[in-house]
Amino acid sequence: MLRYGNKKILVTGGAGFIGSHLCERLLDLGEDILCVDNFFTGTKDNIAHLLTHPRFELMRHDVTFPLYVEVDQIYNLACPASPIHYQFDPVQTTKTSVHGAINMLGLAKRTKATIFQASTSEVYGDPEQHPQKEDYWGHVNPIGPRSCYDEGKRCAETLFFDYYRQHDLPIRVARIFNTYGPNMHPADGRVVSNFIVQALKGDNITVYGKGDQTRSFCYVDDLVEGFIRLMNAPNEVTGPINLGNPSEFTILQLAELVICMTGSSSRVIYEPLPQDDPVRRQPDISLARETLNWQPTVTLEEGLQKTIAYFKKILEL
Ligand code: NAD
Ligand code: UDP
Ligand code: UDP
Repeated sequence: MLRYGNKKILVTGGAGFIGSHLCERLLDLGEDILCVDNFFTGTKDNIAHLLTHPRFELMRHDVTFPLYVEVDQIYNLACPASPIHYQFDPVQTTKTSVHGAINMLGLAKRTKATIFQASTSEVYGDPEQHPQKEDYWGHVNPIGPRSCYDEGKRCAETLFFDYYRQHDLPIRVARIFNTYGPNMHPADGRVVSNFIVQALKGDNITVYGKGDQTRSFCYVDDLVEGFIRLMNAPNEVTGPINLGNPSEFTILQLAELVICMTGSSSRVIYEPLPQDDPVRRQPDISLARETLNWQPTVTLEEGLQKTIAYFKKILEL
């Protein structure tokens, strides 16, 4: 039986897209939240409504520097996540994943906190196995434009498992697949936000390549539920564990769905495919189903509806 409430929980990257939803959900469960963010890609707007909450505290801090606080659980989400953001300063991206992990693991070791790592399906690279299972080691270019993110996250996983083996630290590693929802940055270049913003403004919808590459999109509320179940699972459930929605779509299908749901007059244009762009991506979530009794419940249409409403509001359309 899970017991919630009264735990001191650190959420790094808490002002970002996923982090802001996680903070809100943990507050609803009665927890005490310390949100740490350097506002590189996150914004105060995402958490403005939480700032007056008596159990919410915000600290501007960069996780590449040590942090001394007292907590019971740590969700380590700090890291730019969209390709344009993580490629803007690739050295800082690797530092955030690697030095950030070392500092947060050191903090967890000292405070005996359980620590959760927001890892990614990018650890599988451009996968040769489909769908991807957790025992697949991946197909990652170590020197390409995506490597700062992919290899940084892979090294962070290594550190988590070495702290687990060497220091007996309670760890939880989630490999997150493409997630979308309100609070995504409208200019972060990710496909769901790009297509919705383009459709709402009547601009061309930019499909990269032929649009036959696939992704599997998870609505943020489903993902956050998976995070909380994993964090509060027994200590032998370390992961890595895939969290994502197995419903797979081509990028062209997504474009057509967004155009239809927004009633937009935008048309699709084709632009070059970025280097190392994975061809197919779909999680195998059998492990999450078995160990966490978790699976997504929000369909792409339902999730897009809420996300479109959010972008309409912030674009004041
Ligand atoms: P996001 O960019 O909205 O959030 C990341 C947050 O981390 C931002 O608020 C940013 O300001 C903060 N941050 C970045 N560097 C930092 C640093 N050095 N110190 C402190 N804070 C820092 O991205 P998101 O989509 O919310 O992603 C959250 C986490 O989930 C990331 O670790 C990301 O790699 C992982 N993830 C996300 C997805 C997805 O589809 N959204 C998929 C796989 C993994
Ligand atoms: N650290 C931190 N907060 C703490 C404890 C440690 O930020 O409460 C950082 C510290 O900077 C250290 C890193 O975490 O370099 C790793 O800590 P650990 O104890 O594992 O190793 P060591 O101190 O021996 O380097
Ligand atoms: N993509 C696209 N048009 C856009 C943005 C992205 O066709 O305006 C494609 C991109 O090439 C990739 C997929 O959509 O194949 C998902 O891209 P995103 O940046 O959202 O995430 P990731 O590549 O990290 O899965």
